[in-house]
Amino acid sequence: MDHVLQLVYLLAAVSFMVGLKMLSRPDSARRGNAIAAIGMTLAIFATIFLFRGQDGSHLGNLPYIFIALVVGSAIGYLMAKRVQMTAMPQMVSFFNGMGGACAAMISLIEYGHLSHAAESGDAALFQTKIPIILAGLVIGAVSFSGSMVAYGKLEGKLKDLSVRGQQFVNMSFLLGILLLSVLFALGSLDGVWFYLILGLSLVYGLLFVFPIGGADMPVVISLLNSFTGVAAACGGFLYDNYVMLIGGILVGSAGTILTVAMCKAMNRSLTNVLVGNFGGGGASGVGSAGVEGTTKEISLSDAAVLMKYAKKVVIVPGYGLAVAQAQHVCHEIETLLEDEGVEVKYAIHPVAGRMPGHMNVLLAESNVSYDKLVEMEDINPEFKSTDVVLVVGANDVVNPAAKTDPSSPIFGMPILDVEDSRNIIVLKRSMKAGYAGIENALFYEPQTFMLFGDAKDSLTRLVSEIKSN
Ligand code: NDP
Repeated sequence: MDHVLQLVYLLAAVSFMVGLKMLSRPDSARRGNAIAAIGMTLAIFATIFLFRGQDGSHLGNLPYIFIALVVGSAIGYLMAKRVQMTAMPQMVSFFNGMGGACAAMISLIEYGHLSHAAESGDAALFQTKIPIILAGLVIGAVSFSGSMVAYGKLEGKLKDLSVRGQQFVNMSFLLGILLLSVLFALGSLDGVWFYLILGLSLVYGLLFVFPIGGADMPVVISLLNSFTGVAAACGGFLYDNYVMLIGGILVGSAGTILTVAMCKAMNRSLTNVLVGNFGGGGASGVGSAGVEGTTKEISLSDAAVLMKYAKKVVIVPGYGLAVAQAQHVCHEIETLLEDEGVEVKYAIHPVAGRMPGHMNVLLAESNVSYDKLVEMEDINPEFKSTDVVLVVGANDVVNPAAKTDPSSPIFGMPILDVEDSRNIIVLKRSMKAGYAGIENALFYEPQTFMLFGDAKDSLTRLVSEIKSN
């Protein structure tokens, strides 16, 4: 039976890797997700029915396990079904926090079991396992409380909070936790310190995430995600469970790679993200220095004519497209223009929106063909030969201050060079800033025209205009 269980674990581990690989392409992502989910389901049921303890006994408490499975699956299903695309980052953060809490709870429970074993004379087992139990406890607890703060911030329920000397306080907490853990593992401290380390780790998670700027939350979530993976891998070590170990390591390494990729796309170091306090989450529209001039508005009919008689139109989707849920009508404009003989492409910036791949997911939902989605490096040289750029709810990712203003918080972030094109039409509701909270000089360029209003509403009216012109 044990061989069958190990074989199922191997299959599950392979399914995680294949699924993860398939997630890297929009056209295979759904299938990849399903394959990994099937692997996880197999691993769970194989553990429930095939696992045998050292004394050969089956897993106990089956009714409780099944009740928890049914309730947990129902809650997860309903949350995933109901969540708005714009609220995905906070849901990821919430689920991640639950993973961290599970890892910490495993450590808590196993500490109880081991203490019991040590009292009965098995001190050697206690000594070998305690470092891994502590690692799972600390990392899982930090991930749990940190993720909950990230969730609260993205939901708009919590604000950034930092005090003078915060970094010093944080560093002291971290060093204190590490020191206490080492002393505990060496047996120099008694049992109550275990719970104290748990408490300190929970507080450290709060202190770690509270001061980080709102716009950096997705990076932090990705980092916390990798913490949870490592904490879960600790559980795998503890139980000698390969699938848990491999799953945890995959989450840990994928989260780390994603964190690094996001920092790179914003041209910032991880340290700058963690201490930089970038973006407040509720941009006020207060400008950065040096942006002067007046903006020009364009009428719907002029915008329709400009696009209909263009040779090439590039659509730049941003966070506002997600807010307005304008992806379907965007696809409608694209097909309408193509019927008129216009070449249409989408320019995809790596951090457009609020999570990695945000724009790809939205546009895939409305059946935009993948070959029309062009990455930033490939589309940038094409703007010079573009007649009209239609900016749909994007702001920071088309802000030239990233190239020209060293005092700007986004200076150095690679951006879409839309200012190279002949005409730019910007769809947004007001002159408010984007997530970084800074003014955008692009809106004052001579070739830029503003079309104010909700993006979905403006695009719907543009569709009618193009049809009637
Ligand atoms: P921005 O947040 O810069 O701008 C979005 C714009 O959309 C706003 O200026 C807003 O203007 C407009 N908008 C909002 N709602 C609507 C609506 N209903 N209709 C029309 N317009 C609307 O978005 P970008 O995508 O350009 O940039 C993403 C930002 O998020 C960057 O700063 C990036 O660094 C950050 N970020 C992204 C991550 C990711 O993984 N994608 C990760 C970390 C950070 P108005 O209110 O006037 O309508």
